[in-house]
Amino acid sequence: MFETLSDRLTTVFSSLRGKGRLSEEDINATAREIRLALLEADVALPVVREFIAQIKERARGEEVSKALNPAQQVIRIVNEELVEILGGATREIRYAKNPPTVIMLAGLQGAGKTTLAGKLAKWLGAQRNTPLLVAADLQRPNAVTQLQVMGQRAGVPVFAPEPGNGVGDPIEVARGSVEHARRNNHNVVIIDTAGRLGVDAELMRQAADIRDAVTPDEILFVVDAMIGQDAVNTAQAFLDGVGYDAVALTKLDGDARGGAALSIRHITGRPIMFASTGEKLEDFDLFHPDRMASRILDMGDVLTLIEQAQRTFEQEEVEKMASTLASDDDFTLDDFLEQMMMVRKLGPIGNLLGMMPGMGQMRDQINNVDDKDLDRVAAVIRSMTPAERANPKIINGSRRLRIANGSGTQVGDVSGLVTRFFDAQKMLRQMKSGGGFPGMPGMPG
Ligand code: GDP
Repeated sequence: MFETLSDRLTTVFSSLRGKGRLSEEDINATAREIRLALLEADVALPVVREFIAQIKERARGEEVSKALNPAQQVIRIVNEELVEILGGATREIRYAKNPPTVIMLAGLQGAGKTTLAGKLAKWLGAQRNTPLLVAADLQRPNAVTQLQVMGQRAGVPVFAPEPGNGVGDPIEVARGSVEHARRNNHNVVIIDTAGRLGVDAELMRQAADIRDAVTPDEILFVVDAMIGQDAVNTAQAFLDGVGYDAVALTKLDGDARGGAALSIRHITGRPIMFASTGEKLEDFDLFHPDRMASRILDMGDVLTLIEQAQRTFEQEEVEKMASTLASDDDFTLDDFLEQMMMVRKLGPIGNLLGMMPGMGQMRDQINNVDDKDLDRVAAVIRSMTPAERANPKIINGSRRLRIANGSGTQVGDVSGLVTRFFDAQKMLRQMKSGGGFPGMPGMPG
């Protein structure tokens, strides 16, 4: 799913790679490309407009971040806006205070309602619920049997009108099912209603009557994602005709474009609660906007790195570090310790250090220090007097011995550290006199 959009966005982002700063022109060009990508993905026009306006505004207003390069900043913004457009936080089921919780499914014929009923029943059952499936689709000759098959596969009982009693009244069945559930300790009731091939008044009236008879806790509008813009139109029609609390999107596995998923929330104001991604009962889960967005961007790892980098590099810290590195004051052992601690904090994402001015080289220096080593280095530096830290040249033999004793290390450790520090200091001086900081990919020196 979402392959088309993924591919297009990846191309957009790669054209930003290597840019030092985003000019107004860059932002406009990027916005234009994203716009095309969304239109190609069959996203509704008002949604596209809003999305692009947000991206532009945020890209322009973005503070110059030292933790992320421009391409990454744009990826971050697009990711956040995608999450937003997909509904923000994951929408969970609202259970009734007094069971049973009544969930009613509505939608067109072929949308995948009956299949979804089975999936939902199985999913709920796995979470220690005791669901009951209800066959209130008495229009289609096969519907009851189909739901019974689903129930069997899901291991969930099905409430249906007795066979041989004529067609039966779906409203009575629905009402009776809630009573039945209460008596038999089913805490959730899932009502499968009839669909039509197209939206019509009779379909809406029946759904509305069932709704009024059982006052569901959740009405789910079930819609086939593969029909794209039609899904959005049908969603609007059902909203006006029956109303619903959330959307269940089916057949996402066959939807390369993603237009329905990206439009429906914005157009209807109702969140997507469930995603169905195949014919098997297991192909089903809550719809997680954040996971969906990173799937669209197809950059799960990059996004995780960006998040971590942001969390770790508090803006202040970054600024402080950058100004230490750039300042004319000499680099002291205190700075050295601070940088090593920062590297440790970064852990496995130490690689991102390449983004900071001068940190690329610094990292190589510090990378030779493993974690235990780092504790020892920290202990050594902390055993020094402020004067020694500011000017390690004064550290002679007797001071070395004192520091080693104070930190529980060997004189050799102290000497090794001081040597390493002088190397780092020398390197920094060279970098500064060379005018600029290498080691910042994609940034001009
Ligand atoms: P209903 O008329 O709304 O009850 O729709 P059904 O549950 O009978 O589903 C219609 C068809 O879509 C069936 O062939 C299902 O197997 C198929 N189907 C339902 N959900 C999915 C899905 O998520 N992915 C795929 N590929 N097929 C699905």
